[in-house]
This record gives sequence, C-alpha cells and structure tokens, in this order.
Amino acid sequence: TLGDFFAGMARRQPDHEALVSRHQGLRYTYAELHRESLRLASALLGLGLAPGDRIGIWSHNNAEWVLMQLATAQVGLILVNINPAYRTAEVEYALNKVGCKALVTMPSFKTSDYLGMLRELAPEMALCAPALLAARRLPTLRSVVWIDVAGEGGEQPGALRFSELMARGDAQDARVAAIGATLKHTDPINIQFTSGTTGFPKGATLTHRNILNNGFFIGECMRLTPADRLCIPVPLYHCFGMVLGNLACITHGATIVYPSDGFDPLRVLETVQAERCTGLHGVPTMFIAELDHPRFAEFDLSTLRTGIMAGSPCPIEVMKRVQADMHMAEVTIAYGMTETSPVSCQSDTDTPLEKRVSTVGRVQPHLEVKIVDPETGAVVPRGGRGELCTRGYSVMHGYWGDPEKTREAIDADGWMHTGDLATMDGEGYVNIVGRIKDMVIRGGENLYPREIEEFLYRHPQVQDVQVVGVPDEKYGEELCAWIIAKPGTNPTEDDIRAFCKGQIAHYKVPRYIRFVTGFPMTVTGKIQKFKIRDAMKDELG
Ligand code: ATP
Ligand code: MG
Repeated sequence: TLGDFFAGMARRQPDHEALVSRHQGLRYTYAELHRESLRLASALLGLGLAPGDRIGIWSHNNAEWVLMQLATAQVGLILVNINPAYRTAEVEYALNKVGCKALVTMPSFKTSDYLGMLRELAPEMALCAPALLAARRLPTLRSVVWIDVAGEGGEQPGALRFSELMARGDAQDARVAAIGATLKHTDPINIQFTSGTTGFPKGATLTHRNILNNGFFIGECMRLTPADRLCIPVPLYHCFGMVLGNLACITHGATIVYPSDGFDPLRVLETVQAERCTGLHGVPTMFIAELDHPRFAEFDLSTLRTGIMAGSPCPIEVMKRVQADMHMAEVTIAYGMTETSPVSCQSDTDTPLEKRVSTVGRVQPHLEVKIVDPETGAVVPRGGRGELCTRGYSVMHGYWGDPEKTREAIDADGWMHTGDLATMDGEGYVNIVGRIKDMVIRGGENLYPREIEEFLYRHPQVQDVQVVGVPDEKYGEELCAWIIAKPGTNPTEDDIRAFCKGQIAHYKVPRYIRFVTGFPMTVTGKIQKFKIRDAMKDELG
C-alpha cells in the first residue's frame, strides 16, 4: 500500500527533503511529512470517518493536498479528486455520485468562492456540526474542512479550519497503525473523474496497486533518484499532478516542488532556478507560456534534465525548444487515461527525437497494449489503425457505482478498451490517431476528423476547426465542420469548398460548414465534439 511504501521511504531517508511548497513557504523532510500525514490520518478518524468512506478534496495545489493523499491512504479512506474549476452543479454531481462524507476545500481562490458554493447547495447545513441535518442537495456530506492557505483569517461558520483539524490528531494514534495493517494493495485509494470530453465525467476507482505502481514506473522512465527535485505546476486534482508528479517522486525518494497554487509561468521559472529543480512537468501550453515569457532569459534553468509533456498532442517545435532552451534533454511524452492510472505508453530517454515527438512512445513495463479492429476484436497488422486496448496492473477497479459501464469498458479478459484509435509501428511505437467516437462512417467509408481538421487548418483564414459526423439518411453520416475564422477575416462556405477541391477526396469535403466564435469545452479545456453533434442534430431536425 502507499502507506507501507511511504513509511519505508521515511525510515530510509528521514532527513531528506520531501516537499517544498513555495507559495506557502513550507518545507518538509520525509520524516516530517510522514509524521504530519499520520497526525492527519488520526484527525480524520476523529471526524467519524472509517475505512472505505469517501472524502473529497476540492483545492488548488498546496501541501495540504499531498498530506491528504498520504493520510487517507494510511487509514483506507478513498480520496476523491474534485476539479477546482468545477462550479456548483458539477461539485454537487461529483460529491453525490460517490457519496462523499467529508470535503476539504479552500475558502476561496481568485473568483471562486468554494465555501459560498457549498452554502448555496446546502443552506441549512451547519457545515461540520456533529449532529448535522442531512443537507438537501448534499445528503451524504457531514464535514467540511477549509484550508487556511497563507493565513487567511476570518471565521467560517460550520466549517473546520484545517490547522484545527490537524491539532486534534495524534501522530502516535494506535488506531491508524491498526487500520494500516489490515489494508490490502487491491483496496481502493482514490476516485478520479474523467475529463468529460465525450459525455458526463465518470468516476474511476483506482487501487493502491494501480497508482503506486504507475507512479513508480513513470519515475523509472524518467530515471528519478533522491537527488531529483521535480517542479510540479500541473494540477494535483488530475492524475498528471497526483501520479506523474507526487507518486513518481515519492516512490523514488525525490523532492516534490510546488511553484504556485494556480499555474503561473513566472513562478515556475523562479522556482526552477531557486530550488535547483532537475525536472519539470507540463501540458504543451504551459511550456509555451514559460518559453515565451518576456523574462525567460533572466533565469538559470541549467539544473533541468527531465520532465513529462502530456495531456494533448505535443508539437515538435515545442519539444525542441524545451530540449534546447530549458536544458531538458531527457523530456518525454506520455499517453494515458484516468481509467489506467493513467500512463500506459511513454517515450523513454533513448527514443530518438523524431519518434519522441511524433509518437507517444512504447508500452510501460508490466503492461500490455494491443490494437484491434473495433468490430471484430482481432489484432490489426502492424501499422494498421484500430482501437488501443490496455491490460495489466494499471487498469482501474471500475467506475464507481456503475457496473454496466465498467463491463462495457473492461472485457472478460481484462482488456481496457480505451476508445482511442491508434497505430503501432514495427518497433512498438504507438501513435494516437483520434477517438473512435469521433470517427465518421460515410457510405461505408471510415473518415478521421483529425485528418480533415489538419487539412482545413492550412486555410489562411481558419484559426481553429472541429469536424464531426452528423446523421444522414442517404450516407448514414455526413461530415460537418465548425470553423473559427481568424480575426478580421470573413471566409465563406464557398471559399472553404474551393480550398478543398482537388486537394482532398470529394467525400472528405464537409457537407455542412458553419462559422462559429467558440467550441463547447470541458472545464479542463478539452473540446466536446458530442455537443457539436447534438447542436447540428437540433439544427438539421
Ligand atoms: P471522458 O472519458 O470523460 O470523455 P477524457 O477521455 O478526455 O474524458 P481523460 O481520462 O482525462 O478524460 O483523458 C484521456 C484521453 O486523453 C485519452 O483517452 C486520449 O484520448 C487523450 N490523450 C491522453 N494523452 C494523450 C496524448 N499524449 N496524445 C493524444 N491524446 C492523448
Ligand atoms: Mg475517456
């Protein structure tokens, strides 16, 4: 279990730095982090929580977040990651979907008033009074704890201050050790919601075995050692921060460094220099913001060596600049999904640059991937397109409270059907082509929206474009393109069609073309094509 593993690491290197939270001015050694996590575990039991109970965390990055991750794991509580960008209806859905009994949150952050949103959902709730009335819209929630980041003052009626909660705990509490001894590595440790790109977010239940191993092998791929100091500007509510960041470090005795609560490129640059970081994670847009920062040249980033770029296709130019200008010669790309802990493929440092930027690398150790014909389930020949399937220790326990969806996703042989279309070359390098749900079948012809989007991007007046399939009586489906025009331009449907003529096959030219000002998006910034399809269905009747 994570608790056993972490206790072992704290014994092995008690005085080594485990965590730096720059924006909070906090530093912990492994021994201190271990002791504080035991104290918090004891305090959580004091709230009346018992193994198997769900407790949410709805917060930006801070030391309390990793303390919660470690404390809950030691007493069998299931930590539920809640996206800090969620608003009232989303947090209501998430808390109720998994039946959270307690919630740790920030009082507010910039324009987000977290406690205010909770009071809106449960006005009659004396937030953590012991004899709490079952709040109307949050029927399972019993306790709310607020994190007093940066000593924010004030009273929060009904909610307990995190530091007060900590003060109630006892790092020597015998109950914590007793529960720890009963836990198994197959017990659930965490519920993470998928991004909601293709529908409602699903709560993936992950076990100790799932994410602890995944964190370990990600760290192996990065060649982490205790000498490494990893700067983590990616959010902890997502597996990128929690597993590729926190767990990759903890499993290698490395140092976790948080530069800020919300992403801030300048804080990242300052932190890498001041903390002599050796690694840096990010999604492509974060690296771009850092590289393009007007003060970029002022910082000494020469301590950097490694890091992971992931989350969306990683442009070759950005990878090259990260290698050259940020000294990250060993930067790698990862592919994964929430349901597989998340990483199943990662490019290693031996992968030649061209392959490291044009593929998502090869399968991780102790996992299997295969590419199958979605219709027949047969493995396609090397180079052929098909659905990527993953099997092994990293495949989730299941979707929380949804056995039917779980059966649809994981087959009887244990293969997780990712819903992603991919190819694999002769050396095992995997390339992600797109999502199956997005594939369009027009008159028996398989069409891949990404291919058509990439072509339309070349039109000088197209800023952004999304291609989807819409139902059609004659062909089964027809293509539809939603286009955002570049500012100051005014392309017409005829312009777009003329551009396609003679360049791509006639059946790839979208039948419907619409000019829009934006696309429907998840709170994490992924584009929701199903909403475009729905809008077109409404329009076409
Ligand atoms: P939902 O399942 O709710 O519709 P989601 O699939 O976007 O949302 P996540 O689990 O956060 O939720 O994202 C996993 C998906 O992200 C993968 O299935 C894949 O489509 C995409 N993805 C992840 N890494 C990469 C990558 N390196 N390159 C291209 N696509 C990627
Ligand atoms: Mg998904």
